[in-house]
Amino acid sequence: MNAMEREAAKVVHALRERGFPAFFVGGYVRDKWLGRPVKDVDIATAAAPEVVMDTFSKTVPTGLQHGTVTVLSGGFSYEVTTFRKETGYSDYRRPDQVEFVGALEEDLQRRDFTMNAMAAGPDGEWIDPFGGRRDLEQGRLRCVGEPAIRFQEDALRMMRCVRFAAEYSLQIESGTWQALLEHRHLLKHVAMERVGAELARIMDGADPYRGLGLLYEAKLPLHWAESGPIPHQAWGEAVAQLASADFQLLSDAEQRTLLWLLAAGLRPDATAQWSRALRYSNTVQKRMRAALLVHARLADGLASRQRWVEAVLDNGREAALRWLALARTFQNSSRVLQAIGLSSEQCEAYIHHAEKWLAQMEATQASELKLDGSDLVAIGRTLGRKPGPWISHVQQWLLLQCAMGEVQNDPDALRYAAQMYMRELADKE
Ligand code: ATP
Ligand code: MG
Repeated sequence: MNAMEREAAKVVHALRERGFPAFFVGGYVRDKWLGRPVKDVDIATAAAPEVVMDTFSKTVPTGLQHGTVTVLSGGFSYEVTTFRKETGYSDYRRPDQVEFVGALEEDLQRRDFTMNAMAAGPDGEWIDPFGGRRDLEQGRLRCVGEPAIRFQEDALRMMRCVRFAAEYSLQIESGTWQALLEHRHLLKHVAMERVGAELARIMDGADPYRGLGLLYEAKLPLHWAESGPIPHQAWGEAVAQLASADFQLLSDAEQRTLLWLLAAGLRPDATAQWSRALRYSNTVQKRMRAALLVHARLADGLASRQRWVEAVLDNGREAALRWLALARTFQNSSRVLQAIGLSSEQCEAYIHHAEKWLAQMEATQASELKLDGSDLVAIGRTLGRKPGPWISHVQQWLLLQCAMGEVQNDPDALRYAAQMYMRELADKE
């Protein structure tokens, strides 16, 4: 037991001393039994929220209507929830009523899966009325009670089902799986924020590939309120071409998502729709789109310094490096390269040269040029040109020359190059 758990035990004892049954519940009990690291300890008790607030000196009424009080104790915080029963899920997501009850078993019964419906006490007590431990031992994920009813009550449980199966390498018990298939259409009632949050946790978890595969098998994405732009078939092809181990090579969820979107052949302009549907933050949306644009440019045609430099200028160095990291990770996997439409020649060329090319870029945006717009206006005047749209055109050209190492980022060199280029333009006109 660590300090957080010892303090949790004190909270449970304090409630019991006042005569109210109290237990550890939920994910803590599951993870403890599995010997996994535990993040937080949730506590359930027969004591009403007011009693909980009266028992501890520091509390926050975080969700009184659901019976949840946060207790601050010894530098830790614990959600203490009154045993409750839930009824009337008319929106397929949340109960219409919650009713506080006196018995732990009734509280455990409202929980989604058997492994999440166990309770434990600080003195070694175990309460497991639905066989959660046996299911875990046999590698099985199973609903508490009648699966069809449980998914009808709360359709988000279907996404949770996939997430837990992937995270804990569990087989979904056949009755639970059948019910999930029969009720998948109800997922459309669930807010995309929640669906997106589950998908994000799948991507961040132990085996995103398995989660993505289960989503495909169950056709759940077809039933999201906004299903996003990855067609079912493309989703299946990406699953067929990738493997669990590919995702394991990438530590962050964003890189994993990038791999996934590339394998599914999602075009950069469609990412916006995908990431909006799944409620990614604006920053993440932008980053993802930029990386896909880098890919679109580099995977299309022979590898060249100019392509690389243009990818950096248009999408930023961060996106280019993000892409490069991905290419480096999969340089020896012809299967993944094929899945994302990158030839091994392209991959190899960029891996060997791109960093050097990047280091040699003396400017990555127009503002870094040692010659600004007013300098160009002055040059234009000497050539008898009035200010106009040509200024930004010349500026972009100078930037490319500089970034390619053709022209030094130095006022005289830039001025000379600009004059030559503008004369050339004038000749063409
Ligand atoms: P993790 O925190 O790793 O996702 P967890 O099991 O703690 O796992 P939470 O979402 O924190 O999951 O919920 C805590 C507990 O509340 C669960 O273990 C489960 O007993 C119950 N629970 C949560 N969401 C639902 C739901 N949608 N339907 C039924 N029970 C639920
Ligand atoms: Mg939890």
